Amino acid sequence: MQTVSEHEVIVVGAGPGGATTATALAQQGHDVLLIDRQSFPRDKTCGDAISLGCIQIMNNLGMGDKVRDAVARGEFYRLDGMRLVGPSGHVLEADFKRGANGEESYVASRIYYDAVIQQQAVDSGAHFLHAEVKAPIIENGYVVGVMAQANGETKAYRSRIVVGADGVTSSIMRALRPEAEQHEDKHRAVALRAYIKGLDLFAHQVEFFLYDDILPGYAWIFPISEDTANIGLGMRLDRFRDLKKNLKKMLQEFLEMPAIKERAKNGTELRDVAIWQLSFGSQKNMQYAFDGALLVGDAAGFINPITGGGIHNSLISGILAADTITGALGSGDVSRERLKIYEQRCHDEMWSGMRRSYFYQRILLNYPGLIDGLIKYLGRNSGVAQAFISKL
Ligand SMILES: Cc1cc2nc3c(=O)[nH]c(=O)nc-3n(C[C@H](O)[C@H](O)[C@H](O)COP(=O)(O)OP(=O)(O)OC[C@H]3O[C@@H](n4cnc5c(N)ncnc54)[C@H](O)[C@@H]3O)c2cc1C
Repeated sequence: MQTVSEHEVIVVGAGPGGATTATALAQQGHDVLLIDRQSFPRDKTCGDAISLGCIQIMNNLGMGDKVRDAVARGEFYRLDGMRLVGPSGHVLEADFKRGANGEESYVASRIYYDAVIQQQAVDSGAHFLHAEVKAPIIENGYVVGVMAQANGETKAYRSRIVVGADGVTSSIMRALRPEAEQHEDKHRAVALRAYIKGLDLFAHQVEFFLYDDILPGYAWIFPISEDTANIGLGMRLDRFRDLKKNLKKMLQEFLEMPAIKERAKNGTELRDVAIWQLSFGSQKNMQYAFDGALLVGDAAGFINPITGGGIHNSLISGILAADTITGALGSGDVSRERLKIYEQRCHDEMWSGMRRSYFYQRILLNYPGLIDGLIKYLGRNSGVAQAFISKL
């Protein structure tokens, strides 16, 4: 098979995780090929909540102006706080803090958000290729590139390291991670997202709804503007299968709940209904480093098991991957032994939060009454509410 090009690093997937990895690597002077099967801008099924931590990382990578421009164009909608509605209708409210440099949280449709980071990767010097990666190329046990299809032709692209940042259904992850290490259903979820018009919204507030039929998941209403919101719901996969649920039907039932229905007096308009999967970072002993390859973001499975948030962890893992790769290329050693430090760094950065969230998730599942009481007791501006949103 003819080789089209050779690079130091190939990053597969230009979502938040891959584009961050490519940006950081290009800024460190590496020759990077960033491949995505979609051209940008493109949609990604998501709740679109972008935490303060994401904006801080983006600013560190030089995206401050791009974020300000997106806010000015109305593509990033500022968040001031949250409302958490419990099973009996009690509400816990919290204001969001700003970052030390004035950074804020947003709801930003992924069609806009992802385009900002993908563009930053290109502006930083990464080469972008619109192609679908079919499989890693493996020689003597090492990943040495990928086979990718563009315009009906499959060709070889070679590199010293490949980063799999191609999301939850990652072709790189499936080829490299042993079958026994795939995510179990209790560490996975399914979720539906749509955009809704016609509902009375709480301006600049995200809303989470916990109720018996959905626990330990939740439904959400996240405004993207004064009149439109991202609406959706998600469930843990084992519960979803056991209860034989249907997400579209569950959304209709949510919209029929009296507290929601009274906010839609003139009817609602739904668009872009889509369903996608999530893999939580709460499963132990998962492998993210291989001979010649690393996994980043959803491809590794870094979603928080209580909030379903994964963008911040994708960015964090992208930065850690880039630093690990720079060290490995410098030493001339891209073996798993050398790259394994990435697993340790991800563990140090994310594992305690993942386990704590998994513990809260089990409380939500087994003691919903306790949650009701807590929400009633905590009321407004508690540290718990702040902690919840900081995990997004
Ligand atoms: C319904 C839902 C709601 C969510 N809500 C939130 C939220 O509000 N906030 C939050 O922080 N997180 C949320 N998440 C999680 C969040 O969407 C992910 O954690 C995040 O998108 C992970 O980023 P990523 O870059 O790792 O992967 P992705 O964003 O999935 O990007 C992967 C990229 O790889 C490309 N790709 C895939 N396969 C190939 C291939 N074979 N060849 C080439 N390219 C390929 C895709 O086109 C895509 O661009 C939600 C998830 C779901 C499903």
